Amino acid sequence: MACGASAQQTADSGSSSEDRQSLANRYIHEILPYWQHRLQLEEWNVHVLLSRPEDLRPGTLGNIHWDRDKKSATIRVMDSTGYHTDLTAMLKDMQVTVVHELVHLELASLPVSEADRSNQEFAIDRLTDALLAADEGRMLSGYLSVANPPALSR
Ligand SMILES: [Zn+2]
Repeated sequence: MACGASAQQTADSGSSSEDRQSLANRYIHEILPYWQHRLQLEEWNVHVLLSRPEDLRPGTLGNIHWDRDKKSATIRVMDSTGYHTDLTAMLKDMQVTVVHELVHLELASLPVSEADRSNQEFAIDRLTDALLAADEGRMLSGYLSVANPPALSR
């Protein structure tokens, strides 16, 4: 995970921290419907937002809260101030967070005992890796190309 990674900042003079933040915000809103569709979670009303690192539980990169009756959920993703990596690594990691939290939602209907919770985290991480490996670079390559803005419909 990018958390704590010390990758060097890109030398791209055109990307201020505010650019990174607004790009991150746009990115998470763009990938959410794609992954929601792939995971067949379209009946859920899912919101995604960036969250300051200090507003997240220490050592976590995001979280999700859901209301099963209302079929609504909110995903929080650590914002760009928590990342000291280049833009690509940051966006990739944010995508990992979004997919990870959506897999939680996928499993929301299954009862989980406290004892199984960390096992479930491992399983979710592996599922997330597998999903993203199958999708490697697809969203990102289009997204990072200024000349070819990504299509919004899929
Ligand atoms: Zn988790």
